[in-house]
Amino acid sequence: MPGIRILPRTTNFPEINIFSGRRLLRWYAAHKRDLPWRRTKDPYRVWVSEIMLQQTTVGAVVPYYKAWLRAYPDIRALARAPLRAVLKSWEGLGYYQRARNMRRAARIILNAHGGRFPEDPAILAGLPGFGPYTTAAVASLSFGKPVPVIDANVRRVMTRLLGLHGPSGTIHDAEIGRILRESISRRSPGNFNQAMMEWGALVCRTKNPLCLRCPGQGECRAFARGEQEVIPVPKSFRAKKITTVVAVIRKGNRVLIQQRPDEGLLAGLWEFPGGKVERGESLPAALKRELREELGVEIETARLLITVRHSYTRYRVTLHAFDVTTTVRPGESPCSLRSLPCLWVSLKSLDKYPFPSGSLKIVRKLQERG
Ligand code: SF4
Repeated sequence: MPGIRILPRTTNFPEINIFSGRRLLRWYAAHKRDLPWRRTKDPYRVWVSEIMLQQTTVGAVVPYYKAWLRAYPDIRALARAPLRAVLKSWEGLGYYQRARNMRRAARIILNAHGGRFPEDPAILAGLPGFGPYTTAAVASLSFGKPVPVIDANVRRVMTRLLGLHGPSGTIHDAEIGRILRESISRRSPGNFNQAMMEWGALVCRTKNPLCLRCPGQGECRAFARGEQEVIPVPKSFRAKKITTVVAVIRKGNRVLIQQRPDEGLLAGLWEFPGGKVERGESLPAALKRELREELGVEIETARLLITVRHSYTRYRVTLHAFDVTTTVRPGESPCSLRSLPCLWVSLKSLDKYPFPSGSLKIVRKLQERG
């Protein structure tokens, strides 16, 4: 594989030697982690791992990946699985739209492509949830197509290697993509892409990059200038804080849960009735208002059961769950005034329903207490 030439308008690096010959591939062969999805080129398995790895660490993904393949060993099994079961399997991974899209894509592959993954990147890119990253990963790792992946790891390696200033994010992606398209190994594009990602994950880390063990140190501009910790400039990020209250309403050993709408945040997941505390509102007042608005019931007693904290997307949520008795009498069934599905479910059967991670902590608390 030839070394690459970088056009003068971009940078005056004459060549990136690490991409010449098999240097990068040899480094990868010697240093790669042994991960379950690296033992296969099967596009279904590659796809599952790549989707799970978005926004989630390798260590967290391994048990999910194994459990998923036991539940849905192939595209047909996923396509035919009920949505609720699929969301339940995804529980804890967050960004549930990924699981919905996987099931939608599996149904299209089954119905329109006879259950076989299309090899053409242009067709892959048309499937639900197949952005440029996923398309490139499946096309290169499973089908040997020379399409480079650009994820956060690759982006970090390349901006440092080339000494490109500016905030983290996608501003240099066009340039990085052009260079990688010229550089990617034609014989082993999948390994080339995995090597780039592994380089960023293991060596060119966000904090404390291991420059002295880096295969590209000799030609790294950021290292030469001592700028490896300031390229790229971290994005300032301020999480939005939210406080919510929910009610655990019981009937015998069953509790009331309701399903979120089909669209929007945490779509289709189940939760306990309640909602956001407004500015200046006390927790009891918010609980009272929410139950009146959502279920049309009044609170008789409310006792704090548990407070949990969790984060999702850009929100940091503090969730207060109350054991509540209401004006609802046995035999009556309060239900959502917003026409959302709601059910009385035994503590044991709560395991059949997918919950967001904050609500799941309440479920576990209830089950512990019995
Ligand atoms: S020398 Fe340091 S900053 Fe440069 S690519 Fe290697 S690990 Fe990253």
